[in-house]
Amino acid sequence: MITVAQALEQLFALATPLGSETVSLLDAHGRVLAEDVAATRAQPPFDGSAMDGYAVTQAAPGMTFRVIGEAAAGHAFKGCVADGEAVRIFTGAPVPTGAKRVVIQEDVIRDGNVITVSDKVEANTHIRPAGGDFAVGDIVSAGPVLGPNDIALMASMNIAEVPVAKRPVVALISTGDELVMPGESPKADQIIASNTMGLHALLRDLGAEPRLLPIARDNEPSLRTALEMASGADLIVTIGGASVGDHDVVANLAPKLGMEQAFYKVAMRPGKPLMAGRFGNAMMIGLPGNPVSAMVCGHVFVAPVIRAMLGLPAGPTPQKTAPLAEALTQNGPREHYMRARMTADGLVAFGAQDSSLLSILNAADALIVRAPHDAAQPKGATVSYIPIR
Ligand code: AMP
Ligand code: MG
Repeated sequence: MITVAQALEQLFALATPLGSETVSLLDAHGRVLAEDVAATRAQPPFDGSAMDGYAVTQAAPGMTFRVIGEAAAGHAFKGCVADGEAVRIFTGAPVPTGAKRVVIQEDVIRDGNVITVSDKVEANTHIRPAGGDFAVGDIVSAGPVLGPNDIALMASMNIAEVPVAKRPVVALISTGDELVMPGESPKADQIIASNTMGLHALLRDLGAEPRLLPIARDNEPSLRTALEMASGADLIVTIGGASVGDHDVVANLAPKLGMEQAFYKVAMRPGKPLMAGRFGNAMMIGLPGNPVSAMVCGHVFVAPVIRAMLGLPAGPTPQKTAPLAEALTQNGPREHYMRARMTADGLVAFGAQDSSLLSILNAADALIVRAPHDAAQPKGATVSYIPIR
């Protein structure tokens, strides 16, 4: 059996970035910026007034000026301001040629067309210089997942079309004679397909485009049909049928149906019967069927694969560290991802860690990551964990 780190390495070797496409700025939220983009306009594009007041060449207490015109946002004053002249100006208006500062309206007394500066005048010029925010050609660098602040900045830069990484299309195939979809009326011996829905949500969060295919039954023709329907996907994710029982279709039949297997089985808990490889033009990952195993493998393996396909740096799902609020016994020979909750004193692993218990996964905030054969850890020891909330 290979280690989690070795499995990730092999997965990254299989996962190729998918290239980019152009979308409108309104559709760019949550997408990965695929190339640097440059401002086509400076901001502000002109020296602008930061306040309501009067634009003048200079100001000192008691000076008087003749008001010769007005400048408002979107309505520049066309002329020039000379000594002894003032232009009534409002926030956001271009500062007229010749003016060197704005005296705020609170600091002048106006009488008809004449203003007099009161006995105190602020040092601040109240002018926002052209390019003070950014200049033409300033760059937003490729790489980040674009959020609201990036979108606002790019809009200000007059970038209406954005090159983003293509979303990986992921075909999701549940396998099992016992499975029905949520909302159906299950018979007494049937189970609701839950992993598929959870993984669909996870994939959407990751910026992929998941496609839910019909459940494949535990026989060759049904699995073949499902795999054919997955054609065109960048990644095929199967769920279940991954162990070595008679009815485990993926493990038994996927290689026969054309899967080139890169690895099978990883030394981890939960999630041992994980497999990966290629199927036709797609990458393929076979997840174990137990609900928690499938979701944990989603966090530990599928998420880094999707990020790599989006052109983000290849690396494991980021881990944090926190103290243990309760001691842990010695770990076994496999890397263990323990469901835990975060308390004010640190992490507490749940007593029940069976890989079928979705309620415990849902109550958990974290997966404590324990190395193979990790010694018993006392209360207060620092451990690594993956946040899952
Ligand atoms: P398998 O790997 O197919 O043997 O499945 C292991 C366990 O996970 C069995 O109890 C299955 O019923 C269950 N299981 C498999 N696939 C799913 C799924 N998509 N949703 C929920 N449970 C599943
Ligand atoms: Mg099964």
